[in-house]
Amino acid sequence: MEHEARRGFFGAIASLFKEEEQYIVRPPYVMEGTTFNECLACNGMCVSACEEKIIDRDTQGIPFLNFKISGCSDCHKCLEACTPAVLSNPTKFIQGHAKITMMNCMSHQGTICFSCKEPCMENAIVFKGMLNPIILPERCTGCGYCIGVCPSGAIEVVA
Ligand code: SF4
Ligand code: SF4
Ligand code: SF4
Repeated sequence: MEHEARRGFFGAIASLFKEEEQYIVRPPYVMEGTTFNECLACNGMCVSACEEKIIDRDTQGIPFLNFKISGCSDCHKCLEACTPAVLSNPTKFIQGHAKITMMNCMSHQGTICFSCKEPCMENAIVFKGMLNPIILPERCTGCGYCIGVCPSGAIEVVA
């Protein structure tokens, strides 16, 4: 019960710190120098092709990744579906890497939590003892699998 209350507390703190503008994470494989103009007239084939259902579109129709439910498996399905070839560079993955905001992280605030560690297939999240996780930028691919599992919303992908 006390554990749940602490999670709620950290969740509330997290939302307070979410007010600054967030980095918009675009899908992987974006063609160099694209303006996303082709997306405006497209019916969003990448959205329906995404096996993890993490591609969303903004009000203009430009796709972005929503890591709340899952991460990017690097499956190439969005690339294969994008006939206008906005997504056409298989060697260019997501631009950005994950970052933990210590203030919002339960573990950094003294409550044991390993939620983010297990889904990270790159072993990019390392703990100092039982607490204080950090993300090694040189290992992090920006795949986003650690984000939705964080009970206090302490992780985001940044540029
Ligand atoms: S399928 Fe390609 S052109 Fe269409 S919205 Fe997605 S990225 Fe843009
Ligand atoms: S690579 Fe696969 S999981 Fe990642 S955004 Fe594209 S379709 Fe979705
Ligand atoms: S975004 Fe980085 S830290 Fe998070 S699961 Fe992916 S590789 Fe690991």
